[in-house]
Amino acid sequence: MKVFQTKKSLQAYLNESRALNKKIGLVPTMGALHLGHTSLIEQAKHVNDIVVCSIFVNPTQFNDPKDLEKYPRTLEADIALLEDVDCDVLFNPSVEEIYDNNEKWYLDIGDLEFILEGKFRPGHYQGVMQVVYKLFDIVKPANAYFGQKDYQQFLVISKMVDLTRMEIKLTICPIVRESDGLAMSSRNRHLTAYDHELAIVLSRTLNWVKENFYKKSIDALLEEAKLLISSNPNIVFEYFEVVDGLTLKPANHQTEKVVALVAAKVGNTRLIDNILIK
Ligand code: AMP
Repeated sequence: MKVFQTKKSLQAYLNESRALNKKIGLVPTMGALHLGHTSLIEQAKHVNDIVVCSIFVNPTQFNDPKDLEKYPRTLEADIALLEDVDCDVLFNPSVEEIYDNNEKWYLDIGDLEFILEGKFRPGHYQGVMQVVYKLFDIVKPANAYFGQKDYQQFLVISKMVDLTRMEIKLTICPIVRESDGLAMSSRNRHLTAYDHELAIVLSRTLNWVKENFYKKSIDALLEEAKLLISSNPNIVFEYFEVVDGLTLKPANHQTEKVVALVAAKVGNTRLIDNILIK
């Protein structure tokens, strides 16, 4: 695997590859890689000649400085995992390589920025768009891969690509879970064994809502889901919503594509998860 830390060296390599008509796929990550990340790389390898994985803990998307500080950084293990799955290129830039001082970014994506995750993490999606736009501009991939785990993020990036008319095909990949149902996440490293046990309630509740979708009103489902999750004092419930999968506005039983999304703090770790109901 080739490893680049600078835009210039990465672009020199990719320009040569492009001249040979090679198709480039990009998998943006913040590192602390797990099987959820490698599933994206494997998917990318099916249709691209060169798969670039970026590892960059993006400061502008953290609304809480403590969260940024304690975000896990495990570069050596990440490189080993990327080599195992035959990733072609790792782009691992410094913050200074990506950002000039006091750089500004704002793109109006309407309500999507302010609901669900946006409500709990002000500014988060502007930071996500800012860095993904830069990565797209540096790598210029034909395809880019994201996880359903961050469902709203996928809609945000899709909207950004539409508004900025970038010609990049985006693919959303299924959530990879632990055998007990917990969605894999870099943040799971912060969970104690006890927290991990508690955290399983999130995926259990999502599954329960899916199974009972046509048996109860949506209000009754939401009430029950909230009770199930907040019954333990070590869990701080943030939201549980059943929404239209395209607009993220509240769904009803007739809505064509329905997604349930949840966020909660388990111990000191904030977790999110979701499930496609139909
Ligand atoms: P992150 O490093 O957390 O920014 O995630 C990088 C990419 O991996 C994002 O597109 C995530 O949605 C995706 N991802 C994270 N966890 C999972 C998972 N458990 N299954 C599938 N994709 C995931």
